[in-house]
Amino acid sequence: MEAKLGSQPSLVWRSIWSARTILKEGLRWRVGDGNEIKIWGSKWLTSPTSYAVQSPVKVLQEDTKVEELIDTQKGEWDEAKTREIFVTEETEIILSMPLSGRGTKDRLVWGPSHKGLFSVRSAYFLQLELRGRNQGESSLEEKRDDRWNRMWDLKVPGVTKLFIWRVANNLLPTKENLYKRKVIEEKMCPLCDAEEETIMHALWECPAANNLWGNNESCVKKWARFELNFMTLWEKFMDRLTKDQLEEMVVLLRKVWLRRNDWVFEKRMACPKNSFSATKAALHEFRVSQLVSNQNKMVHKTDTERVKWEKLERGFVKVNWDAYLDLKRKKTGIGIMIRDEQGEAMVTVCDQKLNVVEAAVAESYALRKAVEFVSRVKNMAAHSLAKKALVMEGEQVWIEEVPGFIVGCLKNDKDVTQEDE
Ligand SMILES: [Zn+2]
Repeated sequence: MEAKLGSQPSLVWRSIWSARTILKEGLRWRVGDGNEIKIWGSKWLTSPTSYAVQSPVKVLQEDTKVEELIDTQKGEWDEAKTREIFVTEETEIILSMPLSGRGTKDRLVWGPSHKGLFSVRSAYFLQLELRGRNQGESSLEEKRDDRWNRMWDLKVPGVTKLFIWRVANNLLPTKENLYKRKVIEEKMCPLCDAEEETIMHALWECPAANNLWGNNESCVKKWARFELNFMTLWEKFMDRLTKDQLEEMVVLLRKVWLRRNDWVFEKRMACPKNSFSATKAALHEFRVSQLVSNQNKMVHKTDTERVKWEKLERGFVKVNWDAYLDLKRKKTGIGIMIRDEQGEAMVTVCDQKLNVVEAAVAESYALRKAVEFVSRVKNMAAHSLAKKALVMEGEQVWIEEVPGFIVGCLKNDKDVTQEDE
């Protein structure tokens, strides 16, 4: 990182050398045991822009490592010490950063990609972002994120959300995609046979799709049927459609794909007219069911998709877990339910965790707790579980007994049969 360019650099070295600013900007520490990271001067915070501590050096020496801030007994941040050293904003950021258990080493990760692995694509975006930041523009990252956030924020059944995510990532098994993977030898559209069946063709451009989009009830009736890719179309949706319309659109996009499948696999084609009223009715029903479940005080995932209870194999358990984040109080609520193969509750857990400000972190806590409980359950024969409520340091655990406020949800889950298709 500190190397000089030299007087007669080779082309390769020159390229590597000029990329080092980007690398420097993008590398961040992920805190493990904290013994390699300097508190001051290293990038290890999750706060954007600098990722480094801005609070002045105080209490500890300037070259002290992050490990000094960790209570190794509990595997948590030493809250009192942290509060003493850092300004309030930074204290909150640090305390909200999850620590990854005992024995984990500190790791340098590539910040711009979520998995922490370097990719040319993320470096490219970082470079654009840096340019933007230098010019005082709003960050490109934010704009990009917004498109995905809007996708995940849709109040539509989980199966629909997943569908649209697959579309955006070009993951539908269209003829073109299967052809690319050498599964089939023909990539023409099975409906019109006029063009290659890409995702955009199948969902947007094909005359069969247009049967639906050209309908009088469609909010995209007069729109151009050619788009570069799905994300450019998605941006137009975001700009021009209301939230309700956007939700209808994604349900309809999935309908177009299901109609296409009906034709390909069963040689039948549903009338497009019915799609609109069916979509509106289904969305209405979904929204009402959401309202009802929100009234139950139980925490819920956004994709409260109703699926049939599938019988498990003997000896297996089903775990549902969820987290609710109260941003104002930086508090997260965690709910876990473990059920046996008959769908009967074995263990129900409610827990709270403070200093959490990110949904992903809240969910990770819930997941970690869920895994912890599964291993606890594994160590006890199901039938011998004591039928009583345990109270353990702030968390409440019910065994083979479901607290009243969940009974409703549980019943729904077991009774409702899968809608759609
Ligand atoms: Zn076609």
